Parts: sequence; C-alpha cells; structure tokens
Amino acid sequence: MTSPTRTPDTAVSPATTGPADLDARPQVRPAAEGWEQQRTSEGRPLLQFASPRVKQPPQHLADQTLEERQERLKELGLPAFRAKQLSTHYFQHWTTDPERMSDLPKAGREELVAAMFPPLLTEVRRLRTDDGNTIKFLWRLFDGALVESVLMRYPGRITLCVSSQAGCGMNCPFCATGQAGLTRNMSTAEIVDQVVAANRVIAAGELGGAGHAQQNSAERVTNIVFMGMGEPLANYKRVMAAVHRFVDPSPEGLGMSARNITVSTVGLVPAIRKLAEEELPVTFALSLHAPDDELRDELIPVNNRWKVDEAIDAAYDYFRKTGRRVSIEYALIKDMNDHAWRAALLAKKLNQRGRGWVHVNPIPLNPTPGSIWTSSEPEVQDEFVETLRAAGIPTTLRDTRGKEIDGACGQLAAAE
Ligand code: SAH
Repeated sequence: MTSPTRTPDTAVSPATTGPADLDARPQVRPAAEGWEQQRTSEGRPLLQFASPRVKQPPQHLADQTLEERQERLKELGLPAFRAKQLSTHYFQHWTTDPERMSDLPKAGREELVAAMFPPLLTEVRRLRTDDGNTIKFLWRLFDGALVESVLMRYPGRITLCVSSQAGCGMNCPFCATGQAGLTRNMSTAEIVDQVVAANRVIAAGELGGAGHAQQNSAERVTNIVFMGMGEPLANYKRVMAAVHRFVDPSPEGLGMSARNITVSTVGLVPAIRKLAEEELPVTFALSLHAPDDELRDELIPVNNRWKVDEAIDAAYDYFRKTGRRVSIEYALIKDMNDHAWRAALLAKKLNQRGRGWVHVNPIPLNPTPGSIWTSSEPEVQDEFVETLRAAGIPTTLRDTRGKEIDGACGQLAAAE
C-alpha cells in the first residue's frame, strides 16, 4: 500500500465512500479534461443510444447470409451457386480481386465483383510495435468516418480488436472514442471486413518481426474482441450478424469458434439479457471499472440508467444461461478506482452471486499525459489483484499492448 503523501489539490478530495482504515489514499473524481463532455438539459452526460440517420455504406456480400447472397445473384440473373464461389474467395482466400477468381466466367466478372464487394475500408495508417507483433490500423469508411482495429500476436493465438461504431455515444470521460460522440453505427460488412483485412495482412507475413520469419501459411485471426471503438450492444443487430459471419462454417462465414469472440459492453442490461438468449456462446465482458454507484455514475454515464448491481446481475445471468464464465473489465486509474476497499467490495458483490462464474481483468489505464487519467502505481495494481485473489476471485492483470502507438481505443482517430 502506498502512503498518503500526495498533497491534495483541487481535483482531490478525501475518500468519502470507503472505510478510512482500509485505504487512506485520496479520492480523485472523474472529470473531462481538455474537452467538454456533452450534457443534457438537466446537466447529465448525454447518452446516445440511437445512431444518427445518415447515409449507409453500400451492401456487401458480408452483410448477407448465404441465402440472401443467392437471392441477390438471382436478381442479377446469375445462378445461385455463384454465391458459394464468391463466399469462398472472400471468407477463405480473403480476396476481392477479380483476377484471382478464375472459376467465374470472365465476361461480367468485374461488374459482379464490384456489385458484391464494394470497397468498405481504406487504410489511412498502420502503426507497429512489439517487434511488429502488434499492428494498429486506422481505416477510413466510405463517408470519411475513421475507425481503428488492433491486431496482436500472442503465443498460440492472434487477436483482433475490432470497432463496431464510428465514435461512441456512451460518453465515458476516460475513453478517447467517446469524446466526439456517436457518428454512426458500422454496418455488418464494415465490422467483418476488419477481420478479413487482418487475415490478409497475416497471410502476407506482415505480423511479427524476425522471430516469425517462418510464417505458417494457415495462420489467421483466432480471437476477436469487440473492444475497439463503439458500444457493440448499442449496434446490436449488425454486431450479431457480424458474429454470425465469424462463426458460420465456411464458406458462409469464417468458421471461428464463438468462445473466441468477446463482446464487451458498458452494461446495457436489456441487451445483455437478449444476448444470453442467442444460441451463440460468445465470451461476455462487462466494463465495470467501479463497484460503487457513486463513482460509476461519473465514470460510466450509462450507470445512471442501469446500476452496478443490475449490470452484475445481468452478467451473472449470462453465465447461468450460457455456462460461459464472464469477464469483468476494470481499468485501474490512479487514486480514482484503485483503492483496496473497492477491490474488496467488488469481490463481495461477485461472491454474493456465486463462485466460479466470473474472472476479473484489471488493466492499467492507458494514460492521457498531464491529466488525472493516469494508471495506478504498480504496487497498487498488485494490491488490487491480491485483494481479489485472496477473496477467491480469479484475477489476471492484463498487459497494455500498444501503449506506444496510442493503443487505447479511439486515440488514433482522435489525433487524425
Ligand atoms: N464500449 C465497450 C467496448 C469498447 S471499449 C465497452 O465499454 O466495454 C473496450 C474496453 O476498453 C472497455 O473496457 C473500456 O472501458 C476500455 N478503455 C477505454 N479507454 C481506456 C483507456 N484509456 N485505458 C484502458 N482501457 C480503456
């Protein structure tokens, strides 16, 4: 435990919510710094659940089920079996290049490909770190909106962090994405195309430094996390269709395992309950970041709608319905949410529901330099983890991949 040597400044007030004997460190309160948090007429942080009605991206093969693709081809006067051929090119060979589709008749091929695979993502920037084992992509969508995805190689798996919305309407004061509000929902194909584009990069041997000179040609994205820009459960229909494209067997989809797909949410309780009813056992993650409503109301504005206990109840019910252990995300923010009494309160709330249904993933905050948004000291991180573990909660401190390349969601698009 660190000693309370910091002199309190204006942003710091003594802890009011926690028992003083457990932790005497100061309590920093959330506040937007260097930007204005949008507010309602009652002065609450604005929440945008609905996407602004703007022009939608063109229909793409990945927006459609196999049946819908067949319908579309019939409309174009073509035999339905072309749908499988086109799907194989896209979902197995990750190509939209008509030159490589020699199984399609030459006449009309370019037009067909243009109709089924309109370009959706234009690469604006690519940043690498960790010896090339982490690549961050900045994409421009058809209407100029910018989104990011991050590709990470780990021993035994390759994870892609995808965006589900351009911007985000959840207005969390520590998250770079929320600062500009919600531009629009991404389409299913825009979400899926991030994965296909990443698979192309991997197949070209571009992920991993010298240590991976011997590329395995079968390598591809094995894990997908909806932890890029956006609130996936606020774009429910399109995100679920994208999950179908990920798990549907090839050539209808990518044939991935649902358990390797993680849907992360600020806690939209009705949508969590709906997700639990789908026959898709994806991994579920709740971005909790605080176990007490007093702090979480400020840290995660949607907490004003659904409280900590309601969100944890929904997560617990997700486990009961699906049998899938859920994750609690907890960004450790110096002197704000990292007090030992909060770790103890979190453990208590999780244990109250049951045992073995949850694990906690604390992650040091990706800091904004010169602000109150700073990651906890290493010894405080350890204390937080140990407090949870001592209470019987499996806890893994996550690494902060890509910190040097503005790895936190939205930082790159915001800088553009
Ligand atoms: N809207 C969803 C998914 C996108 S954010 C959600 O909130 O879960 C993915 C994760 O990154 C969330 O847990 C979010 O709280 C976290 N995050 C956002 N900004 C961060 C930062 N600066 N440092 C660390 N984690 C951050």
